[in-house]
Order: sequence, then structure tokens, then C-alpha cells
Amino acid sequence: MSGDSASRSRRATAQQLSSLRAAGVTRIASRSRKSGQTSSDTKSVPAPDATAATACSRSASLFNAPQSTMPRAEREEKLRILSARVAQCVRCAELSATRTQTVFGVGNPEARIMFVGEAPGADEDRQGEPFVGAAGQLLNRILEASQLKRAEIYICNILRCRPPGNRTPALEEAANCREYLDGQIEIVDPEYIVCLGSVAAKNLLGSMDSIGKLRGRFFNYGRAKVLCTYHPAYLLRNPAAKKDVWGDMKFLMHDLGVEL
Ligand code: SF4
Repeated sequence: MSGDSASRSRRATAQQLSSLRAAGVTRIASRSRKSGQTSSDTKSVPAPDATAATACSRSASLFNAPQSTMPRAEREEKLRILSARVAQCVRCAELSATRTQTVFGVGNPEARIMFVGEAPGADEDRQGEPFVGAAGQLLNRILEASQLKRAEIYICNILRCRPPGNRTPALEEAANCREYLDGQIEIVDPEYIVCLGSVAAKNLLGSMDSIGKLRGRFFNYGRAKVLCTYHPAYLLRNPAAKKDVWGDMKFLMHDLGVEL
């Protein structure tokens, strides 16, 4: 990092700490992604842990992992192997019998931001890619407004098979598929995970709280900061909630050093 970059980073960090203190956040976990060490008790905490925020160092690229410990080619290969396992998976009898294909995940294997949705729908089941239907198009517009591109982030779901009739995933199905989600998180190693909707938020964080209560703050999941917001499909039914999602995206991007 150059002297200018270092001083910019220090100024950004000071501004973040100041704004977090102003917001009443008192517990800050500083962390080195290079070493994986944390200076507080937030390391590898799988349960919700609100208010922990990280003064992450910024790289030249906003959207690639700044201090990757795993080369990109190795990540791609590991994701390919995991995806091949998923394609053969029959853990959920009903889903594996009714799916057209599994829907693993797409995007940048070094992404700093991972979006996690609920499960594939009819369009996703047909095309083998998450968020390609109407909700996916709305997600694309949200990303664009947030100065993000799909190719820069990583997108996956709690489930990798479509539940018949788009029913809510059963707890057992989410548990069956958790190994694959955790595998993707471990390989991509994002700094931020955005849970889209209550199924993603509740399953990832193990929380019973509503999405309305989980919004507006960061949780920790392993090394990642987790933000919860509404699912784009919910926004299609409830357009009034778009302003809340916009607020959540501004909150996320502010933490990344981008003012929307
Ligand atoms: S949802 Fe996940 S665990 Fe269940 S059959 Fe599909 S890939 Fe396997």
C-alpha cells in the first residue's frame, strides 16, 4: 500500500469508527484477513453477533478479496469440484427427484461480497443459475444502483434445488444443503454476506427473529460481516419496501468505503 493509500485507509477507518461510535456501536472487532486473527471474540462465531464491525484494509480493487490467501485458480477448481458433488446430490429425496438441475452459484470466486438467497425458482431450475427470473432482474437493478456488477460479486442460495411449487425450504433441506453453502463461503471467503430474505437470514444466522428485526446492523459469520435485507421477490409484491433495501445497500456500501 502506498503512503497516500495508507493514510486514506487510516482516515476512512477513523471515519468508520467515529460513525459507528455515533451510532452507539461500542464493540469493534479489528481483524487481519492475511493472518485470519481477530482481536476480539468474534472469530469463527456461527451464531448472530450484532454490532461487530471491522476496520478492513482496502485494496486497489474494491471487489476482489484484498489479501487472498488462496489463488483464484485454486478457488475456481475447488468450486468446480464442489459443484460436481452438488450435481450428484440426492440428500433431499423430493427435491432431487423433481429438479431439472442443481443451481450451485455464480460469480467472482474472490468476491468481497456474497449474496445468499432462499432457493432456485422455476427460471433458475431451468437455467441452472441463481436469480435469473423477475426477482433476479430486480436484484440486478439493485446491484447496478449500488455500483456493483453480478460478475464482481458471488451469488448462491440456501438450497441448490428448487422446492416444488416454490414452497419454503424445510429445515431439514436447509440442513442437508448447509455443507455446500459453508463450502462456498469457505472457498470464496467473502468479507460481507448479504442475506436476501428471512429464509437466508434465519438459516445462516440460526435466528428466529424476523427480517425486519435483523436489518440495519452487521452480524458475524466466521470471518464475514453479515447484513440482512428483504428478498427481491418480496419487493416485487411490496414495492414500498424498496426504500428499506436501498437503505441497507447504502449501509453496506458505506462500510466498503463507497457513498451512494
Ligand atoms: S437441496 Fe442441497 S442437499 Fe438437498 S438434494 Fe439439493 S443439493 Fe442436495
